[in-house]
Amino acid sequence: MEYMKRTATCGALRLADEGKDVVLNGWVHRSRDHGGIQFINLRDRCGITQTVVDEDAPAELKKLAGSLRMEYCIAVKGRVRKRPDSMVNPEMPTGEIELQITDIEVLSKSAPLPFMIEQESDAKEDLRLTYRYLDLRTPGMQERMKLRHDVIFAVREFFHERGFYEVETPTMIKSTPEGARDFLVPSRLHPGKFYALPQSPQLFKQIIMVGGLDKYFQIARCYRDEDARGDRQLEFTQIDVEMSFVTRDDVLRITEELFQYAFRKTLQTELPESFPRFTYHEVMNTYGSDKPDIRFGLPLQDFSPFVEGSGFKAFDSVLEAGGAVKALTAKGCGGYSRKQITQLEDTAKIYQAKGLAWMKVTENGLEGGVSKFFAQKQEEILAALGAEAGDLILMVADTWRTACTALGAVRSRLGKDLGLTDPKTFAFCWVIDFPLFEWNEEGRKWEAAHHMFSMPQQQYLDTMEQNPGEVKGDLYDLVLNGNEVASGSIRIHDPEIQRRIFRIVGFSEEEAEKRFGFLLNAFQYGPPPHGGIAPGLDRILMIMAGEQTIKEVIAFPKNSVGVSPMEGSPSEVDEAQLKDLHVKLDLPENDA
Ligand code: ASP
Repeated sequence: MEYMKRTATCGALRLADEGKDVVLNGWVHRSRDHGGIQFINLRDRCGITQTVVDEDAPAELKKLAGSLRMEYCIAVKGRVRKRPDSMVNPEMPTGEIELQITDIEVLSKSAPLPFMIEQESDAKEDLRLTYRYLDLRTPGMQERMKLRHDVIFAVREFFHERGFYEVETPTMIKSTPEGARDFLVPSRLHPGKFYALPQSPQLFKQIIMVGGLDKYFQIARCYRDEDARGDRQLEFTQIDVEMSFVTRDDVLRITEELFQYAFRKTLQTELPESFPRFTYHEVMNTYGSDKPDIRFGLPLQDFSPFVEGSGFKAFDSVLEAGGAVKALTAKGCGGYSRKQITQLEDTAKIYQAKGLAWMKVTENGLEGGVSKFFAQKQEEILAALGAEAGDLILMVADTWRTACTALGAVRSRLGKDLGLTDPKTFAFCWVIDFPLFEWNEEGRKWEAAHHMFSMPQQQYLDTMEQNPGEVKGDLYDLVLNGNEVASGSIRIHDPEIQRRIFRIVGFSEEEAEKRFGFLLNAFQYGPPPHGGIAPGLDRILMIMAGEQTIKEVIAFPKNSVGVSPMEGSPSEVDEAQLKDLHVKLDLPENDA
């Protein structure tokens, strides 16, 4: 089809182009009639240009311009001219010029819009997702899609320069439990059999190491059939990495370099030379979280030395039972009202704390709350906690874990309330030395804390069966502004150790053989020592873009109940399709 094809984009023209004849293609962003002069702001991916049909233009052209509606896709031909001084818009890159239109071609019309195309649409999520193509036209989404592209490009560049190969692993594989539920694809050719969508390329990347490819990465799609919880997507993207002949520090180092490179290339931001490292125990003890937000301080401290002799029974009995009393000094919060303190207490209670004890620091010393028990030790307490007049001291007494996590949740909340979480600050840290196993109370069994392929630290190798809870793994998480953005580990490459791990987590020999036999087989043929990591691309982009949800950085996300309102997935399928797949439905009563 012949049409007036663009000779410039809507973001390109400047004063230096004055007098040039050009054709622009784009969408009618706004159109207004100003006393017989028709202004049409034309928008494309590159920007917005003001185009004008003058008062003395031919009647035909004026009529056509008057008939244009928002988001019509049009071509305009015209001459670039300087705007009158009063019309110059310094906010717009094209703000010094306008295009005097001599011809217009309507390329396609638009139905009335469900929402306006503005910097960010303020329409409800489902409406935005139903009309995602319109939402993608908003400058905010366009910027984020560019950021996503730029980051992926930088990642590929980074790894390529360091001799990594990007290898695609299959997205239809054998169902191999990795923590979440698999999505299954029934096989037509093999009745009663299923492929699973990978929860991650974990086993394949390990087998790639057995295959001698040495340094692997992949921008990998992963699928987990999880209940709608928090900000999760059923499918998401990882920067999957695996390397042979490395130790933990090599993996941490290359990951730091990766993010330094990507942040420099895309946000022109310099990250620190290396990221601080904390052990799991340290972060739990100091921040009450295994994904601490270290943009701010407010550390948890040990209050137990001040409990003895205080006469405060609630704290005494916790310590006698082997628990802990943790304290947090909320800087400048001494003026908090009862209501504000109760709100903090509610946060602590979500994390199983029985209560949140408090006292205020005033010019006269400790006041209010539980202060009467601690008046005698006031000097020591203030010195130890670094508390000053105007501060609020908050305390939780419980088992060490509950005291830490509950007060850690209070800390996170305070960080937000006190405005300490600047989204433009990027505070990365490593958490290392995680326990290898977690006790599952419901199932009364040990489970792998990360996954079953992670190496126990050397010193536990001989005795790990005796006390699995004590065993630390060669595991690491990368945390950014309070979000876990990557995890990884040094892997087991000894089939015997792998079998012992399967046994500890209650996988029988046959079960392990059935599920992971292919990995154990591969491990018979000289597997190299190897390890890796998998940063979650969506979450990192969300933080880079200063957004609150990963849906803002994914072109076509599902909504919060796993539905795509645009094309309507998941959907029913034809009876014939099911028959082909040898599938019979057995629906719950009310859905049938
Ligand atoms: N496959 C792991 C995950 O998805 C990451 C890794 O260990 O490399 O969490």
